[in-house]
Amino acid sequence: MAFAAACANDPCENSNPRISARRMSMCARIEIGVELEIVQAGHPVLRQEARPLTPAEIAGKEIQKLIESMRKTMHDAPGVGLAAPQVGLPLQLAVIEDRAEYHKDVSKEQLRERERRPVPFHAIINPRITEKSDDTVEFFEGCLSLAGVSALVPRARTVRVEFLNERGVKVALEASGWYARILQHEIDHLNGTLYIDRMHSRTFTSLDNWNEFWKGKPISEIKMLAGSALHSKRAE
Ligand code: ZN
Repeated sequence: MAFAAACANDPCENSNPRISARRMSMCARIEIGVELEIVQAGHPVLRQEARPLTPAEIAGKEIQKLIESMRKTMHDAPGVGLAAPQVGLPLQLAVIEDRAEYHKDVSKEQLRERERRPVPFHAIINPRITEKSDDTVEFFEGCLSLAGVSALVPRARTVRVEFLNERGVKVALEASGWYARILQHEIDHLNGTLYIDRMHSRTFTSLDNWNEFWKGKPISEIKMLAGSALHSKRAE
């Protein structure tokens, strides 16, 4: 999302030239460059269940360095969330930040309907969704690991989540709107799920075509237009 290479099964051995980690079974050693490489869909690490971090690992230098590097990589992308599997590491860790400066090119109306408000930087470690609202909302969503494309994705409007933050402190919070969407998107990454597994597949579009044909249209109209082709085809 706004919200990010082909290789062997062990993502640590291969994938990311800027991370030389000997097997992730433990991050025994992670050498982090200034900026990490974001892997694209098709990389097996994006389909793996990430493993939890221990409190000792969270406090350790390597994970702290990794969080800083992920923060920089997310800002440079730019994105509002980045999960460790997206940089080739199957760890239950993601970083999130939705800066006010990202909102200046978004209309007030869009910010309002998406319930999008600035979210300060924080990490989520070993997160768990403990409650989801029944009401869902649908918006176009992107992912740094699916560059150049987007689709309409239904998500719960509010979620309650529990996680450890970057200091290893247990946090429980309730989020709504765009922040809730970011949390669900990133937590999906940690379970090997991508938005394409949840999208309305008929709305899948290149960003160029989104800009040309769909941008600014009400969601109900987009669903109708994207779906109506199917119905008319079937009727023929
Ligand atoms: Zn993503």
